[in-house]
Amino acid sequence: MKINKALWLTFCLLWAPSALPAKMRVLTTTQDLAALAEEIGRDHVAVDFIAKGYQDPHFVEPKPSYLLKMKKADLFIQVGLELEVAWAPALLTNARNPKILPGNPGFLDASVGCEILQISSGPVDRSMGDIHPFGNPHYWLSPANGRVIAANIAKKLYALDPDNEAAYRQNIAAFNAKLDQKQKEWQALASELKGTSVVTYHNSWPNFARSFGLSVANFIEIRPGVPPSPAHLENLMRQMRAEKIPLILVEPYFDSKLPQKIARDTGAVLIVISPSVGSKKEIKNYFDLFDHNLELLTESAAKSGKRSL
Ligand SMILES: [Zn+2]
Repeated sequence: MKINKALWLTFCLLWAPSALPAKMRVLTTTQDLAALAEEIGRDHVAVDFIAKGYQDPHFVEPKPSYLLKMKKADLFIQVGLELEVAWAPALLTNARNPKILPGNPGFLDASVGCEILQISSGPVDRSMGDIHPFGNPHYWLSPANGRVIAANIAKKLYALDPDNEAAYRQNIAAFNAKLDQKQKEWQALASELKGTSVVTYHNSWPNFARSFGLSVANFIEIRPGVPPSPAHLENLMRQMRAEKIPLILVEPYFDSKLPQKIARDTGAVLIVISPSVGSKKEIKNYFDLFDHNLELLTESAAKSGKRSL
C-alpha cells in the first residue's frame, strides 16, 4: 500500500506540469521586443525572438528554425515601419499560422502610438536603396516609446489571455514604475551630453538623440542602407574637422575598419554602441540597454574632451 502511494505521488508529480494551463507563446522579430514582452508577460508567457541583438535587424537570413517558431506562436510582434520587410513577411506567409498574420488577433505591430521621427512628406522612393521609407524604424531607442510598446504588448496579452490579465496589469505597473525612476537617472547622466555632436554609421539614433540631447550631425552611410562613396567620406571628414565632432557611433554589425580610419584622420573617438538588447552579453534587458549606452557615451565624451563644445 505504501509503495502504491509512493508510486501514485511520483505519477502525480510527473504529470502535474502538463495539467497547468499552457503558457502563451510570444515570438518577436527583435530581442528588444522580446525583452519588453518578458517584462509584461513574466511567468505566463514563453518568449522567443528571431534577430539577435548583435545582428542588423534590416537583414536577417531566414532559417527553417524561424518557420518552426512562427508555426507555434500565439502572438507575433514586429517593430514595423519596414524594419523587417526583407525577411519577416515571407516567413509569416510560409509559416501557415493564420492566427499571427497581420490583421488577426495574434499579430502586433509595436509601433502603434509611438513617436516616429523622419516621416517623409514626399512620395516614398526605395529606388536609391533607402531602407527607412516610412519614418525611422529604430524608435525603441527612446524610453518614452518603450513605455508605449510595453502598453501595446500588455493590451494584446489582456485580449489573448484574459485569465491572467491581473498579473499582466501588475507587471506593467512595476515596469512603468521602474522606467519612471530610470528615466530620472538617465536624464541626470545625459545632462553631461547635452548638445554633443555625433556622427553615426547608420541612421539608428534619432529617437535616442532626441531623448538625451545629442545632435546627430551626419552619417557614414550616405542614407540608410546606401554605402558611402569616396566623395561623401571626404565631405564628412571635412565637416568633422571643421565642427570638431568628438564622437563616431558605430552599430556592432558594421565593419569598424572605415570608422576607425575616419576617427584616426579626424581625431574623433570611435564607440561601438548597442542599438539592441543582446548586442553585448551584459545587456540583458531594456533598462540595461540605456544604462550601458549612456555610461559609454558619457565616458567617451569626457575622454574626447568634448571637442564640439
Ligand atoms: Zn535602419
